[in-house]
Amino acid sequence: MDRQSVWETDVRYLKGVGDKLAQIFSKAGVHTLWDLLLFLPRTYQDRRKFHSFEEMQSLALGDDFVIGLGVIEKFSKKRAGPRGRQWKEALVRVLPPDAGVNTPGDASPLDPRILFTWFRDPRDYAEKNFPEGSVVVFRGKAKIFRSTLQIVHPELQKSTADLPPWEFGGIVPIYKEISSLSTRVIRKIMALALERPELSKIPDIFDPLLMKELELEPIAKSIQELHFPKEWEPQKDEAPSGKYLKRIAFEELFMMAIAMSMRKSEWISAGEGSSKNLAKIDLQTTSVLVDDLSKKLPFILTKGQQSALNEILLDLSLKDGKIPMHRLLQGDVGSGKTIVAFLSAIAMMNNHFQVAMMAPTEILANQHYQNFSKFFPEYSGKCMLLKGALTAKKKKEVREALSNGNCQFVIGTQALVADATMFEKLGLIVVDEQHRFGVKQRLLMKEQSGEVVPHLLVMTATPIPRSLALTIYGDLNLSVIREKPAGRIPIETHLIKQKAHSKLVERLNRFLEENRQIYLVYPLVEESEELDLKDVTTAHAEWSQAFGASKVGLLHGRMKAKEKDAIMQSFKQGDIRVLVATTVIEVGVDVPNASVIVIEHAERFGLSQLHQLRGRVGRGAEKSYCVLVGPDNPGPLSKERLEALVQSDDGFFIAEKDLEIRGPGEFLGRKQSGMPGFRVAHIIRDMELLERARTEAEKILSRDPRLESPKNKVLREMIEHWWGGRMELALGG
Ligand code: ADP
Ligand code: MG
Repeated sequence: MDRQSVWETDVRYLKGVGDKLAQIFSKAGVHTLWDLLLFLPRTYQDRRKFHSFEEMQSLALGDDFVIGLGVIEKFSKKRAGPRGRQWKEALVRVLPPDAGVNTPGDASPLDPRILFTWFRDPRDYAEKNFPEGSVVVFRGKAKIFRSTLQIVHPELQKSTADLPPWEFGGIVPIYKEISSLSTRVIRKIMALALERPELSKIPDIFDPLLMKELELEPIAKSIQELHFPKEWEPQKDEAPSGKYLKRIAFEELFMMAIAMSMRKSEWISAGEGSSKNLAKIDLQTTSVLVDDLSKKLPFILTKGQQSALNEILLDLSLKDGKIPMHRLLQGDVGSGKTIVAFLSAIAMMNNHFQVAMMAPTEILANQHYQNFSKFFPEYSGKCMLLKGALTAKKKKEVREALSNGNCQFVIGTQALVADATMFEKLGLIVVDEQHRFGVKQRLLMKEQSGEVVPHLLVMTATPIPRSLALTIYGDLNLSVIREKPAGRIPIETHLIKQKAHSKLVERLNRFLEENRQIYLVYPLVEESEELDLKDVTTAHAEWSQAFGASKVGLLHGRMKAKEKDAIMQSFKQGDIRVLVATTVIEVGVDVPNASVIVIEHAERFGLSQLHQLRGRVGRGAEKSYCVLVGPDNPGPLSKERLEALVQSDDGFFIAEKDLEIRGPGEFLGRKQSGMPGFRVAHIIRDMELLERARTEAEKILSRDPRLESPKNKVLREMIEHWWGGRMELALGG
């Protein structure tokens, strides 16, 4: 049995799963047996022995699961009032954990008692099977109700022999529930899956010597131990033991390192090996032109913008040999990345190459298009917008203009790569906010580039520390814009409580009188039954009443593109004064007159996300304000997070704080398309491991660049699996 079969076995066919549960599992990204095995417990519970009464009491405080031994003393029927609800109770004497099932001992009134409660037991199952006087093994969630320890609908068994081994006698895993799928059901499925004989034979991909050196445990053992550890000390450590996690983490990091490395060499060889020419600019004349154009801008480029631009022009002129540019332009929100991209685009256009710029949203694509036309009217005739909302006819026109070269600069969304757009001579691809794009899109565009191999410029505001960026985006060169344009007045940030809301309304009214425009941001689109949060739809209705319907606009992701455009346009023109929105405005939206942003339920957002949102203001000449509305009683963590934002306007500081407080899982992990999420690896904590993984990956690739040797077969299969088919593209297929 090899790894392949472990990946390919659909969870649906595992014991105890089936269609219905498979569907629920898929919500958590669990599709195959391998996914399931990497669905790791949130924590563990020690069930090597029964709980004592004292332990039950303390577990009950956390609404936690208990398992114990008791004697049923008395059943009784209860009723709340003459016509009220009925239920059944049993009073149970709790036995010490080491009492045998056969030796309950004599009852004393001083013995501790627990109450079982059944709100439904139609066939008197409990009474029939466990009559008064019987000894039971009971399990369930314990609560303290009216100072009595109580379990509602306990599970009962006659003896431990009836307990499945994964429920008792060891340290059992507690999983995060997946909708209606309880930790108990997951535990059972996991235990049965782990019994499959092939699992003990999953091969390790690492050389035994390396494993010994790094003290890595075998993969099969690691997985087993992570689910059902032999040892666990709750006080010491949430995880069973770091070494098993380390094994999985190393594998994840190693895979990423391999993939990155392969992508990089593929990119390089795209230049060398391709029959196509590389797009190339004339450095001298182009630099002069770009200089002249930037002098005509209404502002002076910052140092960071200027040096990023220089680095880009140097790349585009192929100064460093025959490698297409592959550059990440990193700069905090508002640092002015767009203009750098525009000037780079013009550099290409002037050398008779085409440019494609991809934005994450249509709103942003529109905005880029408008700004380009505003800043560079003499080039706007050659620039077109391509987006999903266009009519089929219009799209066709744009595509034609791209294939015959009439259009030199196209700005769009994913629609750019949705159908095969053929370019005549695509020389540069600009990807704005790359974390929203996949590898696939980038490569697709490359294949459609026409006569030449294009350069790539990726822009992001995600403020990753440099050393980290180099590892994560190992295949990209890095330009960083550190400073903000001069003359920006710092944004004043306030943290207020929910209950201060009425004051906020007054304040907003005054802001409106001062002729300012306001963003009001909400976490939800519609009212939700499960979450007690304000939603954008209800809020829009309320604010319309407060400020007058004509002044208040609504914007969220579920609206039609046309509607969104219209709203955005009238906010820009200042007809709408207040924009009630979800996080659709998070990335890139630029309305300089909007100088106030209020973020409701700020605790629901990530720090970097809040920072991005805040970056919507502070773009004009006026002083701007950001109001974070937090909970009335924030937990210490939530408070610390939100206060970091009040303290600082530095994206790097905030990102580091964010990492420190909640770890990088979401920061760079799962949410990022094109960058498969890590389940275990922690890119900050495991930095050293990551470095090591990189060295090892390069070693292997230097001997076998495309992993073609039989020895690396498993590895290659893994990479292919890991990238979910994307690797095929990366391998230049
Ligand atoms: P981001 O890096 O977040 O994409 P943008 O490119 O949207 O930032 O720029 C933010 C705003 O700053 C825009 O209105 C842009 O015109 C303006 N801007 C860009 N560069 C400068 C500069 N050097 N001086 C003043 N304003 C600038
Ligand atoms: Mg931007």
